[in-house]
Amino acid sequence: MWRASVLTIFPEMFPGPLGVSLAGKALASGIWSLDTHDIRNAATDKHRTVDDTPAGGGLGMVMKADVLARALDTVPHDHRPRLLMSPRGEPLTQRRVGLLAAGLGAVIVCGRFEGVDERLIKARKLEEVSLGDFVLSGGEPAALALIDACVRLLPGVMGKEVSIAEESFADGLLEYPQYTRPPVFEGEPIPEVLTSGDHGKIAAWRRAEAERLTAERRSDLWAAYQARKKP
Ligand code: SAH
Repeated sequence: MWRASVLTIFPEMFPGPLGVSLAGKALASGIWSLDTHDIRNAATDKHRTVDDTPAGGGLGMVMKADVLARALDTVPHDHRPRLLMSPRGEPLTQRRVGLLAAGLGAVIVCGRFEGVDERLIKARKLEEVSLGDFVLSGGEPAALALIDACVRLLPGVMGKEVSIAEESFADGLLEYPQYTRPPVFEGEPIPEVLTSGDHGKIAAWRRAEAERLTAERRSDLWAAYQARKKP
């Protein structure tokens, strides 16, 4: 069973959106499991303090290394990677999601305040993972997103494996545009080729549209795709 262990000061945020729809059904049926660990339980004072002022001065608070270490050390990490959600981390990609989903699960630390004492990151060899170049108020929404992306790849969660193989990033391209009934919407018909029944033509159209969209919107992905295509 794929297992997510989440360390957070807001355990009530979990499973949250992961308790409904495909992820929720898969959770209930035991395809994956989730355990949350309240970091405050590892605090030693009566106020259950998890943060303190930054060394060197400045605004905000920093999560304490000693408290977080104690919290982490109660979570068996067997062979699962230990991740810290962090805007300084390697941006998450579908490739990394695929590797995580193929493994045993993950131990995920959610930061709060201004972040986490650097010594904890080193001492527990946390791998920093970012959701993108923007700042959240906490690691919890990032952890939910990461787990969601992994869980949908687990065998038995999604109906058709094909839809995974064809979607955005599967071969380094964005997905082609999708259409469904009605055949005409506000005067705009579905592209004719899609209703032609000619599967070869449809596949060629989809590939061309995926390439066009990727070139238009994501020069980074497009450059990498072209470099791979060259002999
Ligand atoms: N002062 C920090 C931001 C702290 S935001 C900085 O400038 O880098 C508080 C917490 O939210 C972080 O510790 C992290 O766990 C989480 N977080 C914020 N943005 C994130 C992002 N883009 N990806 C993943 N986690 C993020």
